Amino acid sequence: MKFTESWSTDSAASRGDTTRPARGDVNARLLERVRAAVAVVRIRQEGLYDRLSQRFHQALDEAGGGGRAAERMAVAKAREELVAAAALTPAQGERLAGFLLRDLDRTDRRRRTGDITASGTLACMGCGFTLKFRDTATIPPCPKCSATGFTRSA
Ligand SMILES: [Zn+2]
Repeated sequence: MKFTESWSTDSAASRGDTTRPARGDVNARLLERVRAAVAVVRIRQEGLYDRLSQRFHQALDEAGGGGRAAERMAVAKAREELVAAAALTPAQGERLAGFLLRDLDRTDRRRRTGDITASGTLACMGCGFTLKFRDTATIPPCPKCSATGFTRSA
């Protein structure tokens, strides 16, 4: 709740929406449509990440679990299946598999704005502000200082 409040307040302020005069209805409507389209793409990518992650867990179970090598093979298998089924383009598969492998690797905690990450907590490297995600999310710029580097703590 606290996150939601500060996020909406700060992002509105940083865009200057409260002080800048309106540029007309057409521009406002166009901007709203662009924002909506961007949100659709973002939510779709997060859904694809979840689908890849689910298939990965199935593949890992089928393989009987294992260490990092087994995880890599299961991610590759999940990616190949979803690309073969045309659920992912090869480029999307590569990108999302990279994010998934990184989330599985507890030693690699660096994250950047625009990355997709599984649920968890990120701390801004600029100001320490923490972002908590209950679901898979696309990382925004820091709502407090606009920095784009984060450390994943959970
Ligand atoms: Zn920050």
